[in-house]
Amino acid sequence: MKTPFHIMLIPTLGCPSNCKYCWSSEEGSPVMNIQVVKDVVSWLSDFRDDPVTITFHGGEPLLAGPDFYRQALPLLAQGLAKNKPSFAIQTNLWRMTPELADIFAEYHIPIGSSIDGPEDITDYQRGDGYFQKTMAGYRVAREHGLNIRFICTFTGYSEKQRESIVQFFIDQGFTMKLHPALPSLRSESPNEWALAPEKFGDLLVYLLDQSLDHYHEIDIMNINDLVRCVFTRRGNVCTFADCMGNTYAIGPDGSIYPCYRFVGMDEYVMGNVRDRPTQKDLDESKPGRLMNDFKAYVDTHCSSCSHNKYCRGGCPYNAIAPSGGEITGVDPHCIAYKRIFDEITDRMNTEMFEAPPMFGGFGPGQTGTGMGKTKPGIMALMQKIALQ
Ligand code: SF4
Ligand code: SF4
Repeated sequence: MKTPFHIMLIPTLGCPSNCKYCWSSEEGSPVMNIQVVKDVVSWLSDFRDDPVTITFHGGEPLLAGPDFYRQALPLLAQGLAKNKPSFAIQTNLWRMTPELADIFAEYHIPIGSSIDGPEDITDYQRGDGYFQKTMAGYRVAREHGLNIRFICTFTGYSEKQRESIVQFFIDQGFTMKLHPALPSLRSESPNEWALAPEKFGDLLVYLLDQSLDHYHEIDIMNINDLVRCVFTRRGNVCTFADCMGNTYAIGPDGSIYPCYRFVGMDEYVMGNVRDRPTQKDLDESKPGRLMNDFKAYVDTHCSSCSHNKYCRGGCPYNAIAPSGGEITGVDPHCIAYKRIFDEITDRMNTEMFEAPPMFGGFGPGQTGTGMGKTKPGIMALMQKIALQ
């Protein structure tokens, strides 16, 4: 099955917050002109016919202001009607206003935001006052019926406070998506906040257990995605699929990149929307060739790994960017991916081996790990995911 077509629009690289581990805060950065959005529509009109998800990302996309979205959304929705566009936005919510919330509600735009746990942990990692500003925006968004999920960035600091972070998400009724802090490409001490791959692996196993222990109380999206990957034997999020050729990011000046993570790095510009490049043009650009070289590298390097079919070497940005555009290995989080994929596979096999015929014993609250135990298992989690 083909990876879904995804366009990330980056209206600005500017951001009013100053998170300690962030790689893309450029105060006062220019905002995308509406002409660039018109160029995006012209370019995509001929580019592909399949459904597209358009995510507004940053920087902080709300800095573009209500006038930008009031013009951009109808241009994209009507101009790309054949692609049946669906929209999403990733924002810290600080600049959410009733006016913006009304616009996003009209287009049924789900919101991804970021909070790292209780106020003290969030503010320690993301700067004083971050928590309250985000929660104020959250309340405005909720009052307008918007659906919000939070990315929780785990750093080398916060992974030691995992219990209180999970409890916070349970208490708030928030769905969690976790993000491991990456080594900063712009810091003199790049690993100061990064979550080491081994620690990330431990954290994923811990969060798998939390998902099962708190089966009815919390959804951890990454755990659900990982379980779904193993169960269906296909990747279902970009990290565990061949994202190249199916995901592009458009910077504020119309430059096209392989993903939002590369935006602002000149060496990863594949073209510009005003020139309406074809897929072949993008594939033949230097970054396009690099991304496809990564795919070929994974085909060889990961060929003996039992998880290759649904892991695909992890994220190419993680693999390529820290080594200055050289392919010297797969995603350094390979250690963590192997650990959690092995864990899920082993537990799933054990459950199947111990299960009564036709998985009859795997309903929520029933045994999933052996007779006499009441903790749900992997199959119960898969059942829950399938019903969502
Ligand atoms: S480069 Fe990484 S984050 Fe970007 S789309 Fe690909 S897998 Fe996802
Ligand atoms: S777990 Fe590691 S070796 Fe296996 S496919 Fe993923 S990146 Fe490759």
